[in-house]
Amino acid sequence: MMMQWETQIIDTVQMGGVLVFITDGAPANLEEWLKPLHEKYLGHIPFVKRSVNDLQSAKYQTKPQDMTFIFSSQVECLMALNAVLQGQRVLIGVEPLPSYKALVDFAWAPCELKDWKKGLESLAELMAGLSSPQDFLGCHEAPCLFLDRDDVVVKNVPYNKDPAKVELQPGIEDLISRAHGQGYWVALVTNQSGLGRGWISWPEYQAVHQRMLALLAEKSCWIDECVWSFFIDQEGVPAGRLMASLRKPRAGMFQLVNSKIKVNMAKSVMVGDSASDLIAAAGAGVGRLYLLASEKLNKEQSSLADYQMDHPSFQFEVRSDLKSVTL
Ligand SMILES: [Mg+2]
Repeated sequence: MMMQWETQIIDTVQMGGVLVFITDGAPANLEEWLKPLHEKYLGHIPFVKRSVNDLQSAKYQTKPQDMTFIFSSQVECLMALNAVLQGQRVLIGVEPLPSYKALVDFAWAPCELKDWKKGLESLAELMAGLSSPQDFLGCHEAPCLFLDRDDVVVKNVPYNKDPAKVELQPGIEDLISRAHGQGYWVALVTNQSGLGRGWISWPEYQAVHQRMLALLAEKSCWIDECVWSFFIDQEGVPAGRLMASLRKPRAGMFQLVNSKIKVNMAKSVMVGDSASDLIAAAGAGVGRLYLLASEKLNKEQSSLADYQMDHPSFQFEVRSDLKSVTL
């Protein structure tokens, strides 16, 4: 008879999740607990061991599909990790006290090493019959209108840190409203190397960002997800070199949006004024790409023409203004 916790492990694996074991305050025999996973399920039940510090410093980030195990000796870790842990939290070997019951999803109590081993034994057959992981987060896939920020949503003011200089581009509210009206998500994906270079502080960036959203709100429109890349590949700017994959023309910001709101990329639209906007979108599988005319149109068009030489399937259209962007 299958017990509840075995079923939950199967569900976790099917959803593409990982079993996370915390090392701080773990039982001295933690390796004994992990042994069946090593010996019998390596490559089938993914699991990791991480410290509280790994999680708090974001060196390791859990996903909503993951399942983190907290032994009775680690309850304090649970409190410390509450703000960063995604996914299920499972308490082993003790019933949660009322004071922290809300922090726990399941308790397996009592659960001893021999029960754990026996339970894992029983998973073998079921694991063999599992199909490839299904993504249960993708229950509703909608297309997304991806927008670059500077010279698409707002007029470009290079490295702007002054909210008073924020000005919406003509037609942006109409485009966003049309997108929402047609069931699209709307997401902002913007390179902001000024942050990485230290030319713009985070509070300054935030003030400019919020001014943009306030101006949109005045027009009764909004952006569902906003992501930005502070990456800059420059010697002597170590902080700026983190998270290179997020900077367009790489596709990281699109993937980040997709991880939060499931997007049908093939039916999605990108509007950008730079070649890198469109190349990044194409890399993420975005189906329709619009190059919006700006002062640098000729330069960007010729970059894209070069890109097309190596990527013949890459297609884009030029638009003189936002009004002529079709969804
Ligand atoms: Mg731009």
